[in-house]
Amino acid sequence: MKGFLKAYTDVAGKDVINHLVQLAASLKGKKVVHVNSTRAGGGVAEILTILVPLMKELGMDARWEVIAGSADFYQCTKHFHNALQGDPVNIPETLLKVYEDINARNAEELREVLEDADIVFIHDPQPAPLLNLCPGRKGKWIWRCHIDVSHPYRQAWKYLRHFVADYDASVFSLSAFAQPLPHLIYLIPPSIDPLSEKNMELDQDEINSVYDRFSLDRERPMMLQVSRFDRFKDPLGVIQAYQLAKNFIPTLQLVLAGGGAGDDPEGEDVLNEVRLAAKDDSDIHILPLPPDAHRTINALQRTASFVLQKSIKEGFGLTVSEAMWKSKPVIGGDTGGIRLQLVNHHTGFLVNSPEGAALRIRYLHTNREKREEMGHKAREFVRENFLITRQLREYLTLMVGLTHGSEERIELG
Ligand code: UDP
Repeated sequence: MKGFLKAYTDVAGKDVINHLVQLAASLKGKKVVHVNSTRAGGGVAEILTILVPLMKELGMDARWEVIAGSADFYQCTKHFHNALQGDPVNIPETLLKVYEDINARNAEELREVLEDADIVFIHDPQPAPLLNLCPGRKGKWIWRCHIDVSHPYRQAWKYLRHFVADYDASVFSLSAFAQPLPHLIYLIPPSIDPLSEKNMELDQDEINSVYDRFSLDRERPMMLQVSRFDRFKDPLGVIQAYQLAKNFIPTLQLVLAGGGAGDDPEGEDVLNEVRLAAKDDSDIHILPLPPDAHRTINALQRTASFVLQKSIKEGFGLTVSEAMWKSKPVIGGDTGGIRLQLVNHHTGFLVNSPEGAALRIRYLHTNREKREEMGHKAREFVRENFLITRQLREYLTLMVGLTHGSEERIELG
């Protein structure tokens, strides 16, 4: 064994890696294509960055394609994102036409690769129409939905459903999201890459230099939320929680770190709202980061005294597992995939308001031992459940099942 797989043996264990090799044996040489709408920013890009090389190392002919959009296209898909997560947004016909036209244009570019593939994973709504635009497809197509579609705005779901119904299977992150569809539905939560720059160990000098670069005070407690500037991530709620917590931890500093994603046009507006809410509080540090600031985020997550992910809707929330892996008991919004990661009072806290978040901060502040105990549990919970090796195993199982159809017996290597 070599490369990535060998490196993961130390973190995930030899048996886990052997299992992957065994499952992948019958998929050797298969052409697998992943398609999404951004190469950087957001959780999907984060996962594909490692998933595709791992699939290659396991013998598959895997590749990652990114569809090209336009400002109107991303505007439309952002509306989709908001509507599918429950906002009553009526998307104008003109934008829907752009959505379909852009997909048609991308189909021209990608058709040959997609029709020839054995397995195609289409991530999220942005490239969903590609299936119907590839009539000569010979492989199995999977729609991988990463967002919280538990209570979609009906009109938006009805429109999207028409594009996803013909897929061979769908994958949702948790059962609450699974919508009735006329094909196989799998539940596979996302995962983090423990060896990436985002999650690897860092030395203290590097961590200190991040503090210094952003003029943070190493001697004072720091509260952190890392996320795109998106209303569903509730950055204003985080500021309120900080203001409440400041009453009992007067030296508290808040860091809101996050850049945009290539396919998210609303970031700038939300960032302005956040700046306005922060007023001139010099202890609130708003750090707009470039998409490759992985080591910076890593350092911030490692040193934060309190990590929040106060989302009000969340597909999964990779940032939660990222911080848990660094032994932090996260305080997270009681929603979507955060509920999978935070076992209330054990690996973190689920909260429903800024007041709730502030109370948990106080608890963790005054109960150091408990904080450490929960942090330890959090890391082990991620090791068991949310490492990339687990997600890869589930994808391989799905792929073996789909490509072998109704065979009674599947020979694994
Ligand atoms: N992230 C990043 N830079 C940022 C903001 C977020 O690298 O400025 C990363 C974050 O560490 C995580 C991913 O992007 O790995 C966000 O995934 P998550 O599931 O938390 O949220 P999404 O953005 O997909 O809704």
